[in-house]
Amino acid sequence: MMAFPHTREKLRSVWRILLDLIFPPRCVGCGRWGSLLCDHCLSAVSWLCPPVCTRCGRPQARSRLCPDCRRSSPPLSAIRSAVIFEGPLRQAILHLKYRGQRELAQPLGTLMARAWPRDAMRGDCLVPVPLHPSRERARGYNQSRLLAEALSEQIGLPVVHGAIRRIRATRPQVYLKARDRRENVKGAFVVDGTSLRGRRPILIDDVCTTGATLAACAEALWTAGAEDVRAYTLARAAWDPARPDILPDLMPRAEGTS
Ligand SMILES: [Zn+2]
Ligand SMILES: [Zn+2]
Repeated sequence: MMAFPHTREKLRSVWRILLDLIFPPRCVGCGRWGSLLCDHCLSAVSWLCPPVCTRCGRPQARSRLCPDCRRSSPPLSAIRSAVIFEGPLRQAILHLKYRGQRELAQPLGTLMARAWPRDAMRGDCLVPVPLHPSRERARGYNQSRLLAEALSEQIGLPVVHGAIRRIRATRPQVYLKARDRRENVKGAFVVDGTSLRGRRPILIDDVCTTGATLAACAEALWTAGAEDVRAYTLARAAWDPARPDILPDLMPRAEGTS
């Protein structure tokens, strides 16, 4: 019995190698043949380097609380992101989310591991932000879960699956203004059971823009008795709380939903 998953995994990689020979992959960033995300595009990513707000992780001139977090703090001890949502990385995330290229989770998870902000991410498990079951069925997978699994392999923290659920099918955040995003996801998540009581979960998501989804998940985790809640996302989209209605373009050109 134990050998079966191994055999299936081996068959899957042989199948992948064969497919790569017949249909060689093209880089989603620049179109070069050979891999889904080439070394050239990987080396061109914009890492999100300090200084950032010590709470929400937004880039700023000094490492301290940003004016927005001083006014009203998000319900997370820290949010951090690996890279800035632009260039080839933007393309890669859009292909992962909207074009079914789940294989991209591996190189993107590796980027998250490379930028893992050890000091800010004191936690004991990874919790992917869930999709509503109807959206996950339509997409075939949850990209945040794939990223969490790829990251987990490299940093060693376990992924807790299925503890948090999205109970409302919310409108895609990408279509909404900042203040409507908070309302849209408020109360949309619940935590089942007691598996996260006293734990220190780190929420994992693909992109953080206003942080509204992370905040709504965090509220559910606190309610379930978490001792601390933090979040780590692959990318951060440029958004200025002083100009809340100017939101970055998070959609592929002329298609799709979140
Ligand atoms: Zn490339
Ligand atoms: Zn802040």
